[in-house]
This record gives sequence, C-alpha cells and structure tokens, in this order.
Amino acid sequence: MPASLLALLLALPPQHDGCNFCEHRGVEDCGRHSQEELDWEAEVQFCSEAARCEDCGGALVVDCPRCAEGPESDALEVRLRRIRHWTEVSSEPERLLGRPLVRVETAHFEVVIAADDLKYGSKRWSAHRVAHALAREAEAAALLLDEHFGAKPGDYSGKTRLWYFGEAEDHFRVNREIFGRNVEAAMKFYGPRPASSAWTGDKGLEDEVMAVVMNGVHVGIHLLLSSLFRPEWLQDKKAGWFDVGAAHFYEIERFRRTATYCLDEANTDLDWKQGKWRAPIRSLLAKRRDPILPELLQELPGTLWEEEHALSFSLYDYVVHAHPGALKPLLLGFKRGERARDLIREHLHTSVPALEESWRRWVAETYPTRDPKPRKKL
Ligand SMILES: [Zn+2]
Ligand SMILES: [Zn+2]
Ligand SMILES: [Zn+2]
Ligand SMILES: [Zn+2]
Repeated sequence: MPASLLALLLALPPQHDGCNFCEHRGVEDCGRHSQEELDWEAEVQFCSEAARCEDCGGALVVDCPRCAEGPESDALEVRLRRIRHWTEVSSEPERLLGRPLVRVETAHFEVVIAADDLKYGSKRWSAHRVAHALAREAEAAALLLDEHFGAKPGDYSGKTRLWYFGEAEDHFRVNREIFGRNVEAAMKFYGPRPASSAWTGDKGLEDEVMAVVMNGVHVGIHLLLSSLFRPEWLQDKKAGWFDVGAAHFYEIERFRRTATYCLDEANTDLDWKQGKWRAPIRSLLAKRRDPILPELLQELPGTLWEEEHALSFSLYDYVVHAHPGALKPLLLGFKRGERARDLIREHLHTSVPALEESWRRWVAETYPTRDPKPRKKL
C-alpha cells in the first residue's frame, strides 16, 4: 500500500454508522414504554412521566450497546439536554406544592393533572393518560384557532397553562398564592403568562375525564385569545359574543357539544339544550323576530345569559364561515377597546341590521333540524 493511501485511511474518522443490531441508528427504542405511550409522547414536546424513565430519561431511545455510535446518537444527546433543562425549570404549582406533578407540554400548552386518577366510564384513567388526552384535544383546537387567525405559536405571549387538581385544597392554594385571589371557584388568569386552575371534583367536572378535557379545551381557547397578538383581557370589553362564542365554537368543533359556561364565582348549573346547539338555535331564530344583535353586541363576557351563550356561538360560527379574514382584525380591535358596530362596518363591510339578516338567513339555510350525536370517546 502506498504511504499516501495509508495516511489517508488513518486520518478517516472512526465508523459512525451504527451496526446491524440497531439498524444503523446508533440507538434503540427504550423498552420501558408501550407502543401506546410512545404514540402519546410523539404528540408532545415534553412529558414529566417520560422524563422520569430511569433508562432513557424521556428520550425514548437509548445508546445501542453493540456499537460506538450512529447517525441518531448526537440527536439523542441534544434531546437529553433539552429534557434535563425542561425538568429543572419546574412549573409554578410544582414549586408551590413542593412535589413533582404530572406535566405535559405542547406547542401551545402546559397541562398539569395533579390527581391520582379520574373516571372514564367504568374505568379509571391515570393522570398521565388524562394529561395526554387533554393536551391532544386542546392542541387540535389551538391549531384550528391558529388557522382561523393566521397565527403561529410565536404570536402568543406565552404558553397557556391548564392546571387541574384532585385535591380542592391544592387548587385553593394556587388561587391564593399564585393568582393572588382568595376564591375557591375555578380561575382563569389572563395576561402575558395565561393560566387556569380548577378542582377536578368541582360541580360540572365531577372527576370525569371527559368533563375535564372539554373544560380544558374551552378554557384554553379563552386564554389563547387573551394572549394572541397582544396580551389583553377581553373580560372588560363589550366583546362577550366574540370571546364566549369562540370558546363554545371550538369546544363544539371537537366534541359536537358544549358543557362549559365559565361564569365567575357561581358555578354552572347552566345547560342550554344539553349543549347541542345548532338545531335549537335554528328554531329559536325562526320564532324570535325582534332584532337580537343590537343588544348582544353590547354585552360583556360575564353578562351573557345561557341562551345568549348559544347565540354568541352562532354569530361566531357565522363569522368563521362568511368572514374568516375578519377574525384577526376583530380580535385586535376589541383588544384596543373599539366598538363592535365600527369593527363590523370596517372589517365585515356591513351594518349591524344587514349582518343580522345575513346571519339569520345562513342559520335557516344551513343549520340541521337535529344535531349530530355528541362524541363519546377520547
Ligand atoms: Zn448499534
Ligand atoms: Zn407522557
Ligand atoms: Zn424510557
Ligand atoms: Zn367560557
């Protein structure tokens, strides 16, 4: 062999292409997770339960024991560093309560389920399973919201944190010591770092997985809207139909039913038409001929009656259908405190009476006479 070729061979780096055993990856799947769990983890950015795995630390793969390294070895190191960093920055309720909680993070949300397990039909679901179900549904609703508003994750002021506690006292402490409010009801905290807290045993939730997940989707939409483009409350704006209508709309998109009314303090005994709304709205509008919008457009989110929740949903439904490009300017206009009447003229290019007429016509022409059956499974 010529000396120059020998020198070249010696200068080559050692083999980096793994071995047959690991299918030339340099890593192999961690054996501690079921296929179902691997599917859950693939949907989220981080999960506390995966991160607690003693073998893989949440990377879900481990170094191949038979070779030095392969093409996926570096990615494993990077992933482990990111997970370690995420785990070290614990969430606010973990710091407050002084114990690790089940926590899942996606592009839009941090979900905490601090309960042992919850009821799903005749079964019990672990907090881990519930956290992933909520993360999946809330994220799907958020992606639809992003599509409607032309938004990207970077357009939100921060991740929306959805926290649920199996012990009422833990939830009360969060209200008092993180939100600074001495109340026991479920709370939403608007602002640059939006968050909500609820007790899973509260009225309306009853430790049921489905109720908690639907609640999380609905509350998540309120919080996303408040933090989108510029952090701002909608609670004190005459934009009740928009804020409340949107939250019901995305809940109904996911579940074909709505169950969340989020009135401050007094918890919900409200249940207009079992939350299946399009058919009843169709008959309601056919019967009621007096103008609805002049008053509806003036309401704050907290002053809507249960029937007005449904009408708000329907008006939002109509704007999504007929004027999707107006959603973003409407939201920004409401955040600046502008009046619905002016925003409608500018961005829907119509007057309030003309809007009422086209909305009513669309409902009469497209709403069903019977609503589809609500979703039963997650
Ligand atoms: Zn190998
Ligand atoms: Zn997980
Ligand atoms: Zn593992
Ligand atoms: Zn609401």
